Amino acid sequence: IGGLAEARQGMQLGAEGVGLLRSEFLFLDRATAPTEDEQTATYAEIAASLEGRPLIIRTLDVGGDKPLSYLPMPREENPMLGIRGVRIGLDRPEIFRTQVRAILRAAKGHPIRILFPMIATLDEIRSVKGLVEEERAKLADSDPVELGIMVEMPSTAVLARQFAREVDFFSVGTNDLTQYTLAMDRGHPKLGSKADAINPAILQLIAQTVAGAAAEGKWVGVCGGLASDPQAVAILVGLGVKELSCSVPAIPMVKAAVRGYSFTDCQALAQRALSQGTAAEVRALVPCNY
Ligand code: PEP
Ligand code: MG
Repeated sequence: IGGLAEARQGMQLGAEGVGLLRSEFLFLDRATAPTEDEQTATYAEIAASLEGRPLIIRTLDVGGDKPLSYLPMPREENPMLGIRGVRIGLDRPEIFRTQVRAILRAAKGHPIRILFPMIATLDEIRSVKGLVEEERAKLADSDPVELGIMVEMPSTAVLARQFAREVDFFSVGTNDLTQYTLAMDRGHPKLGSKADAINPAILQLIAQTVAGAAAEGKWVGVCGGLASDPQAVAILVGLGVKELSCSVPAIPMVKAAVRGYSFTDCQALAQRALSQGTAAEVRALVPCNY
């Protein structure tokens, strides 16, 4: 979701929490960054609207295709492979530290988790955790919160077990995972439609992520567009994904799709999907009744 209105709509449509609050909505289209107090109030208000259900807040994910006027970045030859997502937070930590403090303060009294975007290496998540601990130490009265990373690069999926020792959960960002695995720009006019996240290469990476997480007793959600794809829902459940974070309008469809299958059917379907060669072959396995 991207704000309070969507949180409320989600609750009306049967959401059991929020798997991805894209915090960019607070930062875009303005001349200065939001203050710590403003952010704390907004996160707490959204969390309160969920009436005890969990809220996962993703830290600022800009750069690449999402520039900010008050955080000018040098021009890059390949912005999608440049300083974007958590890399900005590590490169220019002031805005990141403020946001972390705001989330930690809002988490007092609400079930809030923090999710970091675009983590490609173990060094990055270790640095991020160091910053979080430093900010937590500055707050008089703050409890530890669960920390997770987005799995958006093949490197993170392949090393899932090592990453799982560092974090509490994973959330697979299938939009970026697909573009970085297939080397197809997700917004490209010709390639965008070919960058289908149900491609068995992506499903293999999700399976690898689940296996690595399970080996360390951690769980995996999916928060990219694939979680809202009627033909992917049963496959993802069968792969062992524990949480589907879908778009608000898709909530009833996703819940109906989950209820339409037994878990063993999902597992059998997932195994067949993993052995296919193309996205079209995977889609042919799943009738689209929704
Ligand atoms: C993703 O990459 O799948 C994702 C959820 O993040 P965004 O679409 O905001 O890049
Ligand atoms: Mg992404």
